[in-house]
Amino acid sequence: MDRLGPRPNLAVIREDVRATEAYAVPSAVGFVKLDAMENPFSLPEGLQQQLGERLGRQALNRYPLSDPRGFKERLGKAVGLPVGMQLMLGNGSDELIHLIIQACAKSGATVMAPAPSFVMYEMSARFDQCAYRGVALKDNFSLDTERMLQAIDEQKPAVVFIAYPNNPTGNLFDRAAIEAILRAAPGIVVLDEAYLPFAQDTWMPWLKRAPNLLVLRTLSKLGLAGIRLGYLAGDADWIEQFEKIRPPYNVNVLTLAAADLMLENMSIFDSQAASLRSERARLLSQLQATPGVRAFDSAANFVLFRVAQADAVFASLKQRGVLIKNVSMTHPLLAGCLRVTVGTTAENETFIKSLRASLSVGP
Ligand SMILES: *Cc1c(COP(=O)(O)O)cnc(C)c1O
Repeated sequence: MDRLGPRPNLAVIREDVRATEAYAVPSAVGFVKLDAMENPFSLPEGLQQQLGERLGRQALNRYPLSDPRGFKERLGKAVGLPVGMQLMLGNGSDELIHLIIQACAKSGATVMAPAPSFVMYEMSARFDQCAYRGVALKDNFSLDTERMLQAIDEQKPAVVFIAYPNNPTGNLFDRAAIEAILRAAPGIVVLDEAYLPFAQDTWMPWLKRAPNLLVLRTLSKLGLAGIRLGYLAGDADWIEQFEKIRPPYNVNVLTLAAADLMLENMSIFDSQAASLRSERARLLSQLQATPGVRAFDSAANFVLFRVAQADAVFASLKQRGVLIKNVSMTHPLLAGCLRVTVGTTAENETFIKSLRASLSVGP
């Protein structure tokens, strides 16, 4: 066969893309998996049956509804969407983060967030060729309000992302500090409430007061990471603009059907979240009672903790079959820090035992 060239001509790919490493997701087969803030519980058997039937009835030969109004109404009711506000659906909130930035990515636009925070804000900003400014948190991981307000004044960010509670630090920022940011920001302020089921604290009612506020949420941490469904709530004028660049069939029929079933069975997910909140308290106190560990309070379904030899402890845990996340090299404020997802009682106990064994090995 006639080959038209020696190799793919990657010179057509953007230089910044070629220089980027792909987002690495390590294989977790065979591990106690406590690295990705997943809900450790599977669906009750009755619900699995119902789900199978429900999914089987979907018209897979047809494109999904591009604007599933009925579903959005049911979702809006279930999540306390204020009257007059609109919802937009995404293939996970990751897609919505991307679409918000894409819509604002004028030449010279800046995206801002506290640092450290969720990596997708920076990745999406860079992929859309926006400037990105991470404003360092204080040593205790609280918002540095003064620095944040100064950065907003200087850089006039098109979008400010605030994860509430923050990932990977797990804390809820001071509401008065966020209010000051809402007043000062010239553009959009996104409050990312991915961990709402564990924090039980929301900005949703503020949509009526703060016209530049958008509230971002996901079903992922609640127990449905696999179906990929996120939603964005805000003023209709904003949502109308973002809808123009949303791929028309970004949320598929199986996802919508599964999400509807979830809305009908919310109490199951609520009680799973409740048991994870009490597991979190147990895990935190066990970490705090472990010599050589400094564990930080968390309003999410994970706990950040600091040890003297983060790399060695992470590797030793892995060798013992426990996979957590090593964030020690991702930001200077996170030096020595590891992040563990709250799992089942048994998983958390395995983790604590393995951690204590790993710490006693020494460097
Ligand atoms: C996990 C996480 C998300 C991811 O949401 P998906 O809906 O799974 O894409 C968004 N924001 C924050 C802060 C997260 O930690």
